[in-house]
Amino acid sequence: MTKYVFVTGGVMSGIGKGVIAASIGKIIQVRGLKVTAVKIDPYLNYDAGTMNPYIHGEVFVTEDGGETDMDVGTYERFLDINVPKNHNITTGQVYFSVIERERKGDFLGKCVQIIPHITDEIKDRLRSIPREEGVDLVLVEIGGTVGDIESLPYLEAARQLRLEEGGENVLNVHVTLVPVLDVVGEQKTKPTQHSVQELRRIGVQPDIIVARSKAPLKQEPRRKIALFCNVEESAVFTSQDMDSIYQSPLLLDQQGLGTFITHRLRLPENLPQWSSWRKMLEEHLTQTRQVKIAICGKYAELADCYVSVNDALKDAGASAGAKVNLEWIETDDFEKQPEKVRLLSRFDGVLVPGGFGARGAEGKILAIEYSRSHDIPFLGICYGFQLAVVEYARHVGIVDAASSELNPGSKNPVIDLMPEQNGVLEKGGTMRLGAHEITVDAGTMAFSLYGKGKVWERHRHRYEVNPKYIPEFTSNGLKFSGRSDANRRMEILEVPSSRFHFATQFHAEFKSRPARPSPPYFGFIQASLGSKGIRVETGPVVANQTVQVNRSAKR
Ligand code: GLN
Repeated sequence: MTKYVFVTGGVMSGIGKGVIAASIGKIIQVRGLKVTAVKIDPYLNYDAGTMNPYIHGEVFVTEDGGETDMDVGTYERFLDINVPKNHNITTGQVYFSVIERERKGDFLGKCVQIIPHITDEIKDRLRSIPREEGVDLVLVEIGGTVGDIESLPYLEAARQLRLEEGGENVLNVHVTLVPVLDVVGEQKTKPTQHSVQELRRIGVQPDIIVARSKAPLKQEPRRKIALFCNVEESAVFTSQDMDSIYQSPLLLDQQGLGTFITHRLRLPENLPQWSSWRKMLEEHLTQTRQVKIAICGKYAELADCYVSVNDALKDAGASAGAKVNLEWIETDDFEKQPEKVRLLSRFDGVLVPGGFGARGAEGKILAIEYSRSHDIPFLGICYGFQLAVVEYARHVGIVDAASSELNPGSKNPVIDLMPEQNGVLEKGGTMRLGAHEITVDAGTMAFSLYGKGKVWERHRHRYEVNPKYIPEFTSNGLKFSGRSDANRRMEILEVPSSRFHFATQFHAEFKSRPARPSPPYFGFIQASLGSKGIRVETGPVVANQTVQVNRSAKR
């Protein structure tokens, strides 16, 4: 019998519900069960691909090419699984398929309504996941905050599912914020009480309340929450502020969350196996060295757009025994005052992440040029890779080289639209997406990092290296050490004469895991620390299975 745990949020958004949902998954997974997670986003967009990451956060790309909510990335990193794209359900998708069926005549004669047609569609989607994947437990995080109009059909579907599947198979966890009034230092529970009242009004009684708070909940507020929210005191947990999000599952389990869920859902009472997680956590918390990295982009201060880049750097740092200090640099500033680029000399490494559009791009090129000419380790990701190609082209004499994304009329478009993108007008889901196989040449930096000649990495782009210019690049010291699609597409570049001038057309950050860093990021951190990139054992990631964490990374 599949078990479902619904995670809802109260009081306000952005309190770390995704991390708590992923932590609950981990707590069950370490008890030997097969767990997966689903994110429900109650907006009308079909997927996250068309949303502005500067407002909504990173678009996380799945192995199968889904453009999903960034919480999906959190699930992958916590559970060490690949989450398929159908695990990010949006209102857009739900209505789209119901309306499609209505047009076909599937509901002939009926009035199509939110209850039961939309709620049935939601339940069908949720039930199809364990049916197809054979998991023991599905975590379902409902985005937004209780009280939002948009989330009502999902809460209603959760209510129905519990009725249909039985109370021993479905659990509701409500995550709220318990603020502290600075003057008196009191933990205030009223917002939590109101949020739970709202939930109960629509028929959902939480079984567990997780309170986000600065410090552990004191006895009195815990008692109050239990009394007013109609749960036992032992069902109230705290998720306090912590140094690393990876402490979260342990902190919750220490409070008895795992035992509570095990009993309620009648799961086997297996002993939790935390040892590899603890070992990973220790590496993330205790580092003897420090490394300073500049991330150069536009709106660079909004770290949420680059959560996976951020985490991939941290994962690499943890494995290399170094704390990674990040600074976000706005490249627009370099365009206005080019001499400002010299501030990069204060950094051990420079990273140019993915991005779109012309604004800030010339500034990124300046940053790339500065790091190459001063031999500061450089890692370019996707747009960062493309701009590194443009920079190198200009360096070797193609002075007007550009990407046609920057300058559609360029005479030397060294980065050009992929042929299959010509004439594509629709924006949704039309980029080159998801994992593709890349061939890595022996004897290159890329090979020494990956330790193998075939790798799978995830993509999200429309432009690529224009094959016309490749001979000119290669004869001038730029090496394309990884390629895909029968050598048609350039995927990795390196400049062998530099310490570490390395860039990838793909987004290696999406496959980084806390205990198994992404090889390009690991090489970058190693180089920034002053050592040559050392090979990381990447180990297999098996979809939806507990993966034995490979601890053999050399450091
Ligand atoms: N704008 C570039 C392209 O579409 C790069 C995309 C990215 O960095 N994700 O190809």
